[in-house]
Amino acid sequence: MNIAKVGFVSLGCPKATVDSEHILTRLRAEGYLISSSYQDSDLVVVNTCGFIDSAVHESLDAIGEALAENGRVIVTGCLGAKGDVVRQAHPRVLAVTGPHATDDVMEAVHRHLPKPHDPYTDLVPPQGIRLTPRHYAYLKISEGCNHRCTFCIIPSMRGDLVSRPVGDVMIEAENLVKSGVKELLVISQDTSAYGVDVKYRTGFWGGRPLRARMTELAEALGSLGVWVRLHYVYPYPHVDEVIPLMAEGKLLPYLDIPFQHANQRILKLMKRPGNSDGVLARIRRWREICPELTLRSTFIVGFPGETEAEFEELLAFLKEAQLDRVGAFAYSPVEGALANELPDPIPPEVQQERLARLMLLQEEISEERLKLKIGKTMTVLVDEVDEEGAIARSYADAPEIDGQVYISECQHLKVGDRVDVVITDSDTHDLWGDMV
Ligand code: SF4
Repeated sequence: MNIAKVGFVSLGCPKATVDSEHILTRLRAEGYLISSSYQDSDLVVVNTCGFIDSAVHESLDAIGEALAENGRVIVTGCLGAKGDVVRQAHPRVLAVTGPHATDDVMEAVHRHLPKPHDPYTDLVPPQGIRLTPRHYAYLKISEGCNHRCTFCIIPSMRGDLVSRPVGDVMIEAENLVKSGVKELLVISQDTSAYGVDVKYRTGFWGGRPLRARMTELAEALGSLGVWVRLHYVYPYPHVDEVIPLMAEGKLLPYLDIPFQHANQRILKLMKRPGNSDGVLARIRRWREICPELTLRSTFIVGFPGETEAEFEELLAFLKEAQLDRVGAFAYSPVEGALANELPDPIPPEVQQERLARLMLLQEEISEERLKLKIGKTMTVLVDEVDEEGAIARSYADAPEIDGQVYISECQHLKVGDRVDVVITDSDTHDLWGDMV
């Protein structure tokens, strides 16, 4: 019997990766094989990203390559939400769906490559098919966003917030842990808004009631005995509630909380909350409760109308806040974003100069903060082992976006091991350590 084979190309952010995992899981559950080459596939699904212009180009190129190599292509993901962009560039695609559309993708697959007769449901592990390494996994708790930040088009692509039932999230987390996952990375567009759309409805997990609310969910996840890391936490006041959980060791003392700017006028133009004095006071309080807390944030420089004084206010904020990890971007207009209509765009060379100044300052801060870790013992999770040693991460490092901890002479370690190391050296982003 010829088993239908589907090729899969997964682009984009962790949220898109989770969408890919859901589609791959359904494909395998229905008996399709996943093929690793274009030539060997009966059709190819391309999960795209459409966030910024470079991602749009990468996605359109990937679709073009799949069409050239295979010819039968279904497009899904964020770029798919702009269906006419895809169809104008590649009129031969079989179907186009938006993000978070597993059912629509499966319907298109069924139409163009009929479902195999005998579903091999028993071949699919309960945790589904995952694209991340076995020892860590992204856990998507909601889709969409109720905010309307003027630089962002995610709400127009993915819609308003839709929270997953808390019981479903917990069952998925438990299955991941049973399959060997040691670290759960909680993701969404807006993690702190979890449950707002369902009025924090109470669900059930293990026969016990559990509210669909970030603090309650985080505490329940923390009881599974693995690392739990919170990403994309919008700076709402109730974020304060998770800091004591971090101090008690129930959650990793790590908060990925995008502040985007420090100047009140620019924040208002961005339709973002907060003022820098309030944020600084909160950060001080958080660190009093949980001195280990690692803070990651992102910022946009060169937003339309940003004056030199307003940019310097951002630099002053960073000096004061002493954040551990910072991602910064020069503002670039995204098709359909409200911020495109704002006056006084900042010339690209000024944007780049401001970005370089911000990164230089943050590198100094990061270097100083990492130096403070020398001599301390830290628990790390091993990501890779080779002949030179192991590459691991501490609680302060999320995979792919933060730093690493290099350990020498430890070839006996395995990927996914959790071990203690004494930190012996540091640079701008990374640490070096010896096994205890
Ligand atoms: S909170 Fe995030 S996803 Fe929502 S509109 Fe703002 S930037 Fe976009």
